[in-house]
Amino acid sequence: MPELPEVEGVVRELSPVSIGRTISEVHVSDVIKKSKELGKEAIVKGKTLEDFIDELADMTIVDVTRRSKYIYFHMEKKGQPYLLVSHLGMTGAWFVVNSLDDITERKFRNHIHVVLKMADGGLLVYSDIRRFGELRLLQKEEDYLPLLKMAPEPFDEVAADHFLAMASTPKYARKPIKEVIMDGHVISGCGNIYATEALFRMNIHPGRATERISEKRKRELFRQIVEVLQESIDAGGSSISDYRNINGQAGTMQTRLKMYGKKVCGVCGRETKSMKIAGRTSVYCPQCQR
Ligand SMILES: [Zn+2]
Repeated sequence: MPELPEVEGVVRELSPVSIGRTISEVHVSDVIKKSKELGKEAIVKGKTLEDFIDELADMTIVDVTRRSKYIYFHMEKKGQPYLLVSHLGMTGAWFVVNSLDDITERKFRNHIHVVLKMADGGLLVYSDIRRFGELRLLQKEEDYLPLLKMAPEPFDEVAADHFLAMASTPKYARKPIKEVIMDGHVISGCGNIYATEALFRMNIHPGRATERISEKRKRELFRQIVEVLQESIDAGGSSISDYRNINGQAGTMQTRLKMYGKKVCGVCGRETKSMKIAGRTSVYCPQCQR
């Protein structure tokens, strides 16, 4: 699943090749059409397909930014601003190509769901193998409340204090620390990979109750989370399973991970253990993490 660093990588690559371009036509897959007919909402959320297609046509992409794990395409049409919000789910990927044949990896080529044809002839293509991704066309962020409830960006100055304040509320204090740091209301964009790494660096057991960690250690943990996220952004993200940047390339952060997906602890040599926390597999070292 793409996490914050991977989404940041996508945004950095999408920006220079999509800003300033205008959409002329929008095509969606038969799978999306069928899902709408069944009253479901595969990928395209909150709008009928007709509206989604009609409204997007003639929009110009004026900026591409990231907010937590969302990609924000800032759009404009007839002087009006719009926001196309993209979440990559488990396996979403964007490709900027001249022809669909330029998408060479078969699994992505076979799961193309939205094609934005540009006025200049190029294509902005959304592929999603497992279809957990989301595309939501809004006028502004406020039109979709969950976007407003996200924690501040982890790199923002206020983010550490927000985390500490939330972590001490009755709702979170007794929960396992890993569940708390992965909650998007508490910290933005810290998913399983980076939560696992930061806890290992701090020698904190992922199941430890949040209230049993001192304020000082929690602040240090937050610093480690920010550090591991930044390291991963610098390395182009982790290439776990089906994450690709827009050129279908993979990042290199996975070679630096010390605990996520490991069978043996690189520090003490003990076999790692795993437990389920909030439905997610959590790997840890029973010797190093207490
Ligand atoms: Zn160990």
